[in-house]
Amino acid sequence: MEKKLAAWGYEVVVAENGNAALQILQSDDPPRLALLDWIMPDLEGVEVCRIVRRKKEEPYTYIILLTSLQRDQDIITGMEAGADDYITKPFKHHELRLRLRAGRRIIELQNELLTARDMFRTKASRDYLTGLWNHGEIVEILTRELSRAKRESSCVAVIMADIDLFKKINDTHGHLAGDVVLRSAARKMHSMMRSYDFIGRYGGEEFLVILPECNLEYAYAFAERLRLSVGCDSIDTPEGVIPITLSFGVAASGNTQLQDVYSLVNAADKALYRAKENGRNRVEVAPFDGAMT
Ligand code: GH3
Ligand code: MG
Ligand code: MG
Repeated sequence: MEKKLAAWGYEVVVAENGNAALQILQSDDPPRLALLDWIMPDLEGVEVCRIVRRKKEEPYTYIILLTSLQRDQDIITGMEAGADDYITKPFKHHELRLRLRAGRRIIELQNELLTARDMFRTKASRDYLTGLWNHGEIVEILTRELSRAKRESSCVAVIMADIDLFKKINDTHGHLAGDVVLRSAARKMHSMMRSYDFIGRYGGEEFLVILPECNLEYAYAFAERLRLSVGCDSIDTPEGVIPITLSFGVAASGNTQLQDVYSLVNAADKALYRAKENGRNRVEVAPFDGAMT
């Protein structure tokens, strides 16, 4: 069988018994197609099949059971255990080859579906212009991080960043140059994050930064670093070099009033509004009620 399968172009991994098969099928990069004898020492093929299916992991393993049992009930048991197909012994090589080919087609189709699903997921969660998380996704992430912080009695800080007088940049240099500025500012901010921080495009020229396990003090210092590095910088565009500055509002969930997404984002927003009122190109912090962790 091993030689036959290799001759048909399959890369073959042989398992001597049910436990060995299970180990191989549960390894990191398992074979996508399994041909399992029903009767095996220790673990039976149908049981291996059941265990593999229970995990519901991706990618899917296409399982063909090899059996000499021909009673209808056995076939039903095999299919109920999650087998995709079965073949009864003795079988013709030609028949096995055809059934393997059918399995291969299913696997290839599944690969295509997974690729398409990943692409749609990316499209659904990313902002088309900057590649950052989009509004829906960044709010979702903040919801998750806030409940994690509550569980672990830690603190999440958020920074709302807004490009100053961006409308004027559009009016002066055109919307395409404006887009280049947005993309470039997004890239720069993203490059300054720790691997476990998040940044999303909250609105037109507004970005929401989420800093897990961060207090207000650290978030303020980080916003200052963003301001000095991303703002106060000039961006190369086809319309020439465009200088930009940004204003920032900072809030943290250590404040007992700011434990939910709405209050936290609202507090950061109000702080941002003050930064604008106080002359732009600056960082303002939400009032702090002393409960910082
Ligand atoms: P402020 O300093 O008070 O924030 O002033 P501002 O001009 O930045 O604020 P305002 O909210 O008045 O203007 C934001 C502008 O951002 C208006 C809108 O046309 C522009 N904008 C929003 N999304 C995009 C986009 O995807 N591309 C470009 N080029 N412009 C955008
Ligand atoms: Mg603005
Ligand atoms: Mg704005």
